[in-house]
Amino acid sequence: MFADLHLHTNFSDGTYTPEELVGHARRCQFSAIALTDHDTVEGCARAAAACVAAGIEFIPGSELTTEHGGNELHLLAYFVDTAHPRLLRETATFQAIRQNRIREMVARLNDLGIPLDANAVFRLANCQSPGRPHVARALVQATICSSLDEAFERFLKKGRPGWVPKTRMSAVDAIALIHEAGGLAVMAHPGLNRTDDVIPDLVAAGLDGIECFHTKHTTRIAERYLMMADKHHLLVTGGSDCHGMSKGRPLIGTVKLPYTHVQELKLRVSQKKSSTTNGPH
Ligand SMILES: [Zn+2]
Ligand SMILES: [Zn+2]
Repeated sequence: MFADLHLHTNFSDGTYTPEELVGHARRCQFSAIALTDHDTVEGCARAAAACVAAGIEFIPGSELTTEHGGNELHLLAYFVDTAHPRLLRETATFQAIRQNRIREMVARLNDLGIPLDANAVFRLANCQSPGRPHVARALVQATICSSLDEAFERFLKKGRPGWVPKTRMSAVDAIALIHEAGGLAVMAHPGLNRTDDVIPDLVAAGLDGIECFHTKHTTRIAERYLMMADKHHLLVTGGSDCHGMSKGRPLIGTVKLPYTHVQELKLRVSQKKSSTTNGPH
């Protein structure tokens, strides 16, 4: 039994609908999946319904864009209450920030003489949580760039003329928010960030787990973070970070997390719940 705990849909910058994603999960014979769209939990209801129909266990989640000490960090939230009022308020704020960032990126491109319309990006994104990949797709659609890679290289990568810095939530606050919403906080793809020195701070803030298995982690990197998980008593997760067809080929199926890790996550969630209900009041 295997799981994929890092998946995106068109509720952020993935290309699959929740139903299409679950269809792929079924073909890959996953026993459990988590949906982790950027800064939103909106796709979870549809993914959950599709998972029921497909006989797959569903874990509601999100991938929050955060920062610590000036470094961008992605935090995966698992088993959060998707109707939690503060979680919804905070994600709405971050979605508004994302939308403003798109307007600013388009304004910078316009200053360069590139005739792109922010509304065209929003129409194409068709979600509350648009991001740079949507700007890249709009540039390709408008035949200004011939590929997504070219769009990032010429305009959208950090330091390029269309790049706009992102306002992010502090990782420590995000961990507290995830806990308040009843979830577990997991550091996403640490091998991509190269910011291992922040891990002790995050552990002190209550980090629950670390994503050891990821499409872009080599075996050596995965082993490095398995050791780190052991050292800090962190749960181990993994996922493909599949964005559908946006990067040319779907990644779902490339990372197969043994289901025992899901059981450990569930155990931790239930322990937390019973400790808050039986806690000193
Ligand atoms: Zn990420
Ligand atoms: Zn992701």
